[in-house]
Parts: sequence; C-alpha cells; structure tokens
Amino acid sequence: MTTFSSTCPPPSRSARPSSPASTLLDLLLPARCAGCGSVRGQVCGGCRALLECAQAGPAGPCPAPPDLPPLHAAAPYADQVRRLLLAHKERGALRLAAPLGAALAAAVRSATGAGAAPLLLVPVPSTRRATRARGHDPMLRLAQAAARELRRTGVATRVAPVLRQTRPVADQAGLSAAERQRNLRGALAVPARLAARLVGHRLILVDDLVTTGASLAEAARALRAAGCPPRAAATVAATARRGRSRPKE
Ligand SMILES: [Zn+2]
Repeated sequence: MTTFSSTCPPPSRSARPSSPASTLLDLLLPARCAGCGSVRGQVCGGCRALLECAQAGPAGPCPAPPDLPPLHAAAPYADQVRRLLLAHKERGALRLAAPLGAALAAAVRSATGAGAAPLLLVPVPSTRRATRARGHDPMLRLAQAAARELRRTGVATRVAPVLRQTRPVADQAGLSAAERQRNLRGALAVPARLAARLVGHRLILVDDLVTTGASLAEAARALRAAGCPPRAAATVAATARRGRSRPKE
C-alpha cells in the first residue's frame, strides 16, 4: 500500500546557488509559487520539500491493463503536486523540473530496489503535436532530472528516449480506460537500431502521471516486442481515485 508520506531529504538543489539562467528566469516568470501561490519564487520551500521528501510506493490503476509492469509513484495527483506538474508541463515552468525529477527519482528507487546493472529510464513519449504546442518535451526533461538525482546518490542511470510513435492517436481526454487501451494499442515501437542500446540494463518506464495506465502499458508492450521488457514503471504522481492499490501482476 502506498503511503505517499513525506520524509526529511538529504540536502539537495535547494541549497545550491542560482545560476545566471535561473536568475533570468526569476525576472521573467511570476514570483508566485506554482504549487501553493505564495510569493516565494516559482516553487516555495514547502512545495519543494513536498516533492523532494516524497516517500514513493506501489501505485496504479485498478484494474490494471494487462501489459502494465509493477508501478510505483511518488505522490497522489492532487493539490500542490497537480499544480506543479501542470505548471511544468503546460506553462513551461522549467525550474520545476529539478524538484519534480527528485520525486520521480524516489519512485524509481522504490520500484527498482537493489541491483548491480545500470538503470535506463525510458520516458513515455509525447505526441509531436503536443511537444510542438508546448515548445518543450516535459517528460524527457523530467527523466533527465531524475537521472541526475539518481546519479547524485550513486545510482548509475541514463535516459533512453527510444520509444517512437508509429501512427497518430486520438486525444485521450474523455475516453474510458478500455477506449484508451484500444486507442493506443500498437501506437509505439522501438526502432531496431535503438533496441541494441537497451541490452544489459535495467529498464524503468517513466512518466509524469498515471491515470488508467494505458500509455505505460502500451510503452511496456513496445519494449517487450523489442526484446527488452521493462522491470517496472515509475511516475511522479498517480490519480487518487486509482492510485492507492498495487496493480495485479
Ligand atoms: Zn508552494
């Protein structure tokens, strides 16, 4: 059972000095915290701690799609966490990538346990249309931030954006869980030239949010079809209505 509680973290980025680029962003972006609205910068200490202190655990939809690997999440998709994810994803609040990446790293640690082989984080890709509209690829950015956090704590980790879309898919909004699975079935693949990169690693699928699990299940199916099944999946957040029970395996 996921506790989604919070523990005190080791010192992290919050103690680091601002770079010239981040100082410039501070001047350009509103100074209100994207999570709680307090006037303490793009993310206040409390909301940063909420992410960096996240105690991740098993999560996922119930019932889970058949192809969904064991899934761990750092927090429920609610309140400050929801607002911070949306600010990063839809409004380009890029400084949130570090604390959100720290939360994703906690979910990855929870999902993987001990093991000698290096980790490869495989992000679930956005559609080209969504990436163009947003002007950035939020999931790739979060995966890279999580990998940096894991390396900082001694876990050999890289990001492998190897999944490609094979066909257009309909907007998932408004679709039921079964409709989402049908909409995405066969929509992702790993090009043969990239599959070789995956051999000998522990593969962890990563995404910002899990709702029905359809996207993660399709991504896992595509990796299995390429001969590289993922060990687990990890997300920053899980929708509360589905996120508190371990998926059937
Ligand atoms: Zn805040």
